[in-house]
Amino acid sequence: MNRRRLLQSLLASAAWLPALDAFAGARLLDARAFHSSEGLRLVLDLDGPFHFRTFPLSAPERLVVDLEGAQPSADLGGLALPSGPLRAIRSGRLGDGLRLVLDLAEPVDLNAFALAPEGGKGHRLVLDLRLQRRLVEAPVSSTRAAGKGRDIVVVVDAGHGGKDPGALGSRGEREKDVALLIAQNLARRIDRQPGFKARLVRNVDVFIPLRQRVEVARRCNADMFVSVHADAAPRRTASGASVFALSEHGATSTLARFMAERENGADLIGGSSNLPLKGKDPVLAGVILDMSINATIASSLDLGHSVLRSLGDITRLHQERVDQAGFAVLKSPDIPSILVETGFISNDADCRRLHDARHQQQLAEAIFDGLHRYFRQRPPQGSLLAGLG
Ligand SMILES: [Zn+2]
Repeated sequence: MNRRRLLQSLLASAAWLPALDAFAGARLLDARAFHSSEGLRLVLDLDGPFHFRTFPLSAPERLVVDLEGAQPSADLGGLALPSGPLRAIRSGRLGDGLRLVLDLAEPVDLNAFALAPEGGKGHRLVLDLRLQRRLVEAPVSSTRAAGKGRDIVVVVDAGHGGKDPGALGSRGEREKDVALLIAQNLARRIDRQPGFKARLVRNVDVFIPLRQRVEVARRCNADMFVSVHADAAPRRTASGASVFALSEHGATSTLARFMAERENGADLIGGSSNLPLKGKDPVLAGVILDMSINATIASSLDLGHSVLRSLGDITRLHQERVDQAGFAVLKSPDIPSILVETGFISNDADCRRLHDARHQQQLAEAIFDGLHRYFRQRPPQGSLLAGLG
């Protein structure tokens, strides 16, 4: 079992995902199932905050959903299920909690996230079941360039989206729009480079919880994760680009802390953002995660420096060094991850440039240039780039 697989299974088995900090015996009130664009969506209504975890079982295919401390209050047996991958739902007690078993017709990819009360709706757990053949239709890392090595997979994350507009400019310009345009430019640029393959976390204006963004990178076996933003600062004169990497202990600057709070705060709309390892062997899990995170932070800093250097050729830099903060979106224990603030949408001059198509392209080109340099210096094993070296 390689380190990434080991981590994946540790994370899958050991992580209780807190929907909110406080929780006490929520009751499961209702469940709804309906077709979504990608497959099937199951929404569970609870009357309070809750912790949950999910894991798949095979032969036969099942999905287990544990709700820690939750009480059953609804009979799920009578739930009308639309045709699709979900055949039946069974539930039973598990310790002082509740276990749901979803019987499946075929393997699915699961995106699970908690929603806090909003717009007259209460606490919800959303389970998106996506048919795996849809992913097969859009292969990411399997393409081989003339059999000489695999593609380096870069997951490009456009910040915010949907009901989370991100930061706003003085005339209502929205960070989520600018971030998407720059991210799309970056993905196109990456795809043009032989030996590289981009995967966009979102390609439309849609809300995606932070934890799910990290999971896309994990699912794609990404070599790197880059999140694209254009944030605001309390000081409207603040301008220029910055690059952030995850810090393990606190933020390295006040602005870094402020931004991490802003970016992570967006996720309160959508649910949990951190990856606590609270399981059967917390010591082992902790040691492995620590080792991995330290190595990953070091790589992320190298990557960040390289990208910052290239950005410095085309735009003012807000910080000359890579800043560090506890961004939830950067918390992949094993994938080098950076967050690029391409400029301040709260600064009028920056905001104008961020909306300029040529500047968007230049930003994408610079980010690519930086990550390309990073990978040329340390090509991942088995990659086409490693073969060329
Ligand atoms: Zn942002």
